[in-house]
Amino acid sequence: MTDLAAHAGTVRAALPDRVELYYAVKANPAPEILRALAPHVTGYEVASAGELTHVRDTVPELPLAFGGPGKTEAELRLALETGVHRIHVESESELRLLAALAEQVPVRRPPEVLLRVNLPTGSGALDGAALTMGGRPTPFGLDPERLAGCLPLLAGSRLRLRGFHAHLASGLEAPAQLALAERIVTWARTAADRYGLPLDEVNIGGGMNVDYGRPERRFDWAGYGAGLAALADRHPGTVLRIEPGRALTGYCGWYVTEVLDVRHSAGEAFAVLRGGTHHLRTPAAKQHDHPFTVLLRNDWARPWPRPGVHGEPVTLTGQLCTPKDVFARRVPVGRVRAGDRVAFAVAGAYAWNISHHTFLMHPAPAFYFLG
Ligand SMILES: *Cc1c(COP(=O)(O)O)cnc(C)c1O
Repeated sequence: MTDLAAHAGTVRAALPDRVELYYAVKANPAPEILRALAPHVTGYEVASAGELTHVRDTVPELPLAFGGPGKTEAELRLALETGVHRIHVESESELRLLAALAEQVPVRRPPEVLLRVNLPTGSGALDGAALTMGGRPTPFGLDPERLAGCLPLLAGSRLRLRGFHAHLASGLEAPAQLALAERIVTWARTAADRYGLPLDEVNIGGGMNVDYGRPERRFDWAGYGAGLAALADRHPGTVLRIEPGRALTGYCGWYVTEVLDVRHSAGEAFAVLRGGTHHLRTPAAKQHDHPFTVLLRNDWARPWPRPGVHGEPVTLTGQLCTPKDVFARRVPVGRVRAGDRVAFAVAGAYAWNISHHTFLMHPAPAFYFLG
């Protein structure tokens, strides 16, 4: 937890004052993590009633931004009743529903909204992104042409438009993120000028890259912060907000397990581990080889030869009865034997909480929050 707090502190220090840092809770909502981040973040981005309630109960003092592509009436009502700091509206019909609810729900002050837009990003701008939520047909946010249709709905409502939100891609390095931020803010400025709208703030999203292939290579927060400072200077009067998830908490978690067996099949070596992608679905979801370290243990007590390999590529699998239960394929490991331990790095985001825990009914791992 001290490493996480130090990392978050470094990220915060790299950002100019006029950039707000929200944590995208879906990356890892563990209460210990939310609390460790609290001194370093401006607020939290939540995307369901479950997250909203959980975060409000865990860190009640910090503001929330409530987003998500499919919000139910009950969720919007809850967001209004609890007075979240911002609601990110993703379509005209959602705007109509929110405006209607704002007439019924007693609110202390006008609910403040950002319109989420799906902007064209220009060819090549999202190349290399692991996931794209924008710049192509997606259910996330409004097409820019639909903005004009939203304005009469806003004008006749109790809602207050504060600006725009765009989260277009995940997995971009700092230069690509900055180019995207520039595009988003420029578009927002032009749209605000054209329609005479306030542009108090622009939320430029998250998606800062985590490189699982080279976990020692970190996102260039210093360069990104300097670029955002220049961008903010060109738009005085507009607060910029970012909402990273993975790049804040990914590095702080490890998934440690033991090797149950090592065997060969048709000439290839497999290390079968206790646990599996029902605990750590990240490599299956992202189709990568998850980074790990083998921790050798010399306490083999069984009276027969210890299964193991030395100096050949190994595929690391789990206990699930499916060929998709793979952590890493044909990777060089040096030595690995039954009874050794394997520690998977970068397991602090989109790990346990995106995994299919009940598949095969194996026990859950234990969680330790150290430091
Ligand atoms: C998931 C998500 C984020 C965080 O993305 P990361 O890749 O974890 O940084 C931020 N904003 C929105 C709207 C999201 O859906």
